[in-house]
Amino acid sequence: MTQVRLQQLTKYYGHVTAVADISLTVQPAEFLTVVGPSGSGKSTLLRLIAGLEFPSKGEIFFDDTPITHVPPQKRDVGMVFQNYALYPHMTVFENLAFPLRLRRWRREQIRERVRQIACLLEVEHLLERYPRELSGGQRQRVALGRALVRSPRVFLFDEPLSNVDAQLRSTMRAELAALQQQLGITTLYVTHDQVEALALGHRVAVLSQGRLLQVASPKELYFRPASVAVARFIGTPPMNLFAVSVSQGRLRLRGTELSLPCPIQLPEDSHWSLGVRAEALSPCTDAGYPLGSGQVEAIEYSGHELLVALSHPAAQISPILVRLPADNPPPPRGTQLPLFLAPQPWCLFAHPSGERLFPP
Ligand code: ADP
Repeated sequence: MTQVRLQQLTKYYGHVTAVADISLTVQPAEFLTVVGPSGSGKSTLLRLIAGLEFPSKGEIFFDDTPITHVPPQKRDVGMVFQNYALYPHMTVFENLAFPLRLRRWRREQIRERVRQIACLLEVEHLLERYPRELSGGQRQRVALGRALVRSPRVFLFDEPLSNVDAQLRSTMRAELAALQQQLGITTLYVTHDQVEALALGHRVAVLSQGRLLQVASPKELYFRPASVAVARFIGTPPMNLFAVSVSQGRLRLRGTELSLPCPIQLPEDSHWSLGVRAEALSPCTDAGYPLGSGQVEAIEYSGHELLVALSHPAAQISPILVRLPADNPPPPRGTQLPLFLAPQPWCLFAHPSGERLFPP
């Protein structure tokens, strides 16, 4: 089991800083997901670890050994890209067997291991086919199989499920997580999909413009985002933000006479963003502190709940989103919905820097 340590890793492409001063330790056997919008440096980070790119600055260590200048084939990483490449002139069996042949496994060992992996990925009936005779999803699974078939020190996945249809994707996600657990191989998994990142990762690293915004457990990211940027990127829907200022030791909501107790001591007249998850808001009076009311702008029905979008005078980013149980009658558009805030958990972010101040 290998620890992967990145030390002040930086990669420039001309004037573009693709990866900016990232320091991060992935623990042995950990499943770390790396998430961020397109262009945030996720693939570059993975390619640096694989050795397909060399950093402009910084070091990469596997355990205590620096591997920054070790060529890719000597790093013992298994990699699956979004644009997977199978050998077109080889059958699925041969594609899966290839990495083992290179390592001079015995014929029976190869046959057994390939069958095992093929069963796991449900491609055992396709072993005699050529890549051109497979669907996109099947090809993706074979590519995944090729990385899994030998047990490398580190797995690097770059959006490996993006071409797989939605249903298969969630099954494969669960299988991949179970498999990683079973094999205990340190894994970095890149995705732009924060739902996937939270579902898979023991911890999640959030990137934006090449910078590491936060690395934390899914729960920590959800409830204690380090900044407004993380709070708005992680979670569906994103965290609601209300503009508040401190008045007589209480948090006063902008444009209203309403106030909440201040969870920490803050200077009078200072301005903050109050961050509240959709599920902490409710139209029921017994839910907590009154936040006035919002006008219903739109409703999204998702089977198990209603997501109601409201305009609210104190909204820092519109709309404010509230979850209601699906058996509630949907509030008509244009009507006012009263809002109450559950006593916890909230966040306070500095304005305008966006850094979280509370919880500490
Ligand atoms: P992501 O995987 O998050 O979409 P990338 O790592 O692919 O992001 O890209 C990060 C930034 O680096 C982007 O601005 C991208 O245009 C730039 N970039 C990536 N690869 C190259 C390259 N080979 N040459 C020039 N710029 C690149």
